[in-house]
Amino acid sequence: MTRHPNLAAKYDLEGLRERMLEETSGEVDDSIPQLADAEPTVCGIAIADSAGDIRMTDDATIAFSVQSAVKPFVYALALADAGESVLERVGTEPTGEAFDALVLESDTGRPPNPMVNAGALLTASLVDGSSPDERFERILSGISAFAGRDLEIDTEVSNSEQLLGDRNRALGYLMRSSGSLEISVDDAVSAYARACSILVSAELLAVMGATLAFGGRNPQTGVQVVPERVVPTVLSVMATCGMYDGSGRWLRRVGLPAKSGVAGGLVATVPWQLGLGVYSPPLDTEGNSVRGVLACEALSDDLGLHVFGPE
Ligand code: GLU
Repeated sequence: MTRHPNLAAKYDLEGLRERMLEETSGEVDDSIPQLADAEPTVCGIAIADSAGDIRMTDDATIAFSVQSAVKPFVYALALADAGESVLERVGTEPTGEAFDALVLESDTGRPPNPMVNAGALLTASLVDGSSPDERFERILSGISAFAGRDLEIDTEVSNSEQLLGDRNRALGYLMRSSGSLEISVDDAVSAYARACSILVSAELLAVMGATLAFGGRNPQTGVQVVPERVVPTVLSVMATCGMYDGSGRWLRRVGLPAKSGVAGGLVATVPWQLGLGVYSPPLDTEGNSVRGVLACEALSDDLGLHVFGPE
């Protein structure tokens, strides 16, 4: 494998999408009605480069709820606002458990990492703001700055997430009882549910991934969204914990920090080179977009993007 990130500008992305559409395995998530209605034949792929230029396929501007792909960005905002204390409040170890498992670190009572629900509920409580609405405004404006666009939430998704969020409430109570969560369970679940309901697209995920790739500076707008010092921590946790229980295989096979969400979105970062965004709803048994994983495998192989790959 040789490194050819400069070939991204000429890469036949539509050809890649056509190949991806031949893959028809996977199931659309049905945890809430709005996700169950997603169109399984959709596949959008986008790449953002250091100049903020985007190359994208058909379907790359279709809006969908970001779901768990928001977690690294909320973590970055919490690290920017609350500094090192975030590392004391949330661990950085992979779990080998489901993303919504009712598990905290046995010795500390902390959530194991910010890419599982317990950790994301906590990091969403650590961003600046003295009320739930202020904290959510900070999250929405921060994620918008990552994307370089004023984003909105899907209120129907957010209402369903809160209505059907008993497991997240259970995690909230567990963290209250261990002393790790300091705001109310309702406030924590409401901020997290709204964050998961922010509408993005494959195109916007590519820009968000590129903002992390370029030290927290959005390459389209030039805005420094989070301090550069927080980015290595965010990318490390994405690399080890970002792809549910497929994270080890993903890192070996694709070799990029990434995060997926149950709507079928996937964001990946090629440090100092590119941001990648994919949207395709059918999920594998681990909860990752089938075509998203395959498309990133192909891009990593063809462009030599694996962070541990040869020169
Ligand atoms: N809405 C989801 C939740 O149950 C996010 C799930 C995901 O994308 O992993 O917390």
